[in-house]
Amino acid sequence: MAQQQREAVAAPPPEEDLNPYHIAQAQFDWAARYLPELKPGLGEFLKKPKRLVTVEFPIQTEDGTVKNFIGYRALHSRSRGAGKGGLRYHPDVTADEVRALASWMTWKCAIADLPFGGAKGGIVCDPKKLTTNDLRRITRRYIAELGDTIGPHTDILAPDVNTNAETMAWIYDTYEMMHRGQNNLGVVTGKPVDLGGSLGRREATARGCLFATQIALGRGIVPGLDSVKGASVVVQGFGNAGSIAAELFAEAGASIVGVSDSKGGIYQPKGFDPTEARKHKKKTGSVVSLSNTKNVSNEELLALPCDILIPAALENQIRSDNADQVRARFLVEAANGPTTPAADLILFEKGIPILPDILANSGGVTVSYFEWVQNFENEQWDEDIVNEKLQIRMQRATDGVIDKQKEINGSLDTLEKQRKKLGRLGEPLQPVNLRTAAYVLAIQRVAKVTLERGIWP
Ligand code: NAD
Repeated sequence: MAQQQREAVAAPPPEEDLNPYHIAQAQFDWAARYLPELKPGLGEFLKKPKRLVTVEFPIQTEDGTVKNFIGYRALHSRSRGAGKGGLRYHPDVTADEVRALASWMTWKCAIADLPFGGAKGGIVCDPKKLTTNDLRRITRRYIAELGDTIGPHTDILAPDVNTNAETMAWIYDTYEMMHRGQNNLGVVTGKPVDLGGSLGRREATARGCLFATQIALGRGIVPGLDSVKGASVVVQGFGNAGSIAAELFAEAGASIVGVSDSKGGIYQPKGFDPTEARKHKKKTGSVVSLSNTKNVSNEELLALPCDILIPAALENQIRSDNADQVRARFLVEAANGPTTPAADLILFEKGIPILPDILANSGGVTVSYFEWVQNFENEQWDEDIVNEKLQIRMQRATDGVIDKQKEINGSLDTLEKQRKKLGRLGEPLQPVNLRTAAYVLAIQRVAKVTLERGIWP
């Protein structure tokens, strides 16, 4: 009997569904429970992507061999404006990942109140095994294959994992070759600054993340932690979002105690200079083994004691099997989809609030929007102006989500009654976390515009 009991306790939790598209849909369904006014048919329409373009193409790599690649571009919604979303290069890219990322872009643009819908692209490739010339050929061929499914007023690209300003310049150039004689700069954002890029765009995701964190802490989201100043911070992922976040949080007075990249992590409880970590990574290819720090695995990094944990790498990093080990007081999602729904629940029960991705990393697309506006005006705004405008937008977006959480949690009884009246049964409504509040706000905004436009025809 005792043996049986031990086995029962030690049994692993039922396997989690880590398909990002299933996760995005589950998040939508969960939030829709708090929207009794949302008609089921409209909900189904808003939840699903409008289109997924799949392209297959060869390129001749520098070593003379011909290799074939698969690329995707998902358009989730254009209700509020052109599709908008990054392009990712990674061996694990799948159609469902791109679909999920596209839907998160729709909700993010709605929370940031930008005139964009959601889109995302990805190419299945390992950039570490390709030369710059190979990547340029892959990029050009992918854009040529997408043809007129993208455009400055239909679907606009941007950087994401393993793509950067150089990639965006190739995208612009290829599209421009195919559409001579018009201003094509708006087809892609995150371009080099001398090619229509916006000052402040490179730092925008991280800066927006810092602003949102400061605003949320100022509003008392984390009991006993009211400022970034003096807070200990761990960052997972040391690319565009993560490395700049580490530097900006340090500049704002935080102590960076741990960072990691795909090769591993480092920890120093007294704090270290993230700029040294960046220089070390440039020299050696990784943050691992920076002097005066201890090497840790990525799993260990996520479990380090700290005030703020910033996942800034990929999806599904905090799951049912490791959420319980998280010892941070606040989780700020610079990455898209780093926390699974099961982990969300565990952290909610542990009293660890999460600043959700669709709010926390919306600074990137916000400054992409500024870039797009500057491109049509043939203007370049000063960096101070960009950062000021970003701060105003992050304040509005963060306040909007926190206010929505308060509104929902203060009206659970009324919502429950409305649900019952409509015959919607199921589990009773519980207080929502910031992710669900963010979803509710975003769905309301997209639904409103969809109905104002009228369902076609
Ligand atoms: P990037 O390619 O510049 O950096 C990714 C970093 O993550 C690299 O340092 C890589 O080594 C690290 N990494 C990869 N796998 C890891 C793992 N298992 N453990 C630890 N580190 C790992 O990409 P990025 O643009 O910084 O994007 C990171 C995340 O932020 C993604 O989820 C992306 O969608 C999101 N995001 C980026 C932007 C943007 O403007 N770049 C905007 C919004 C959201």
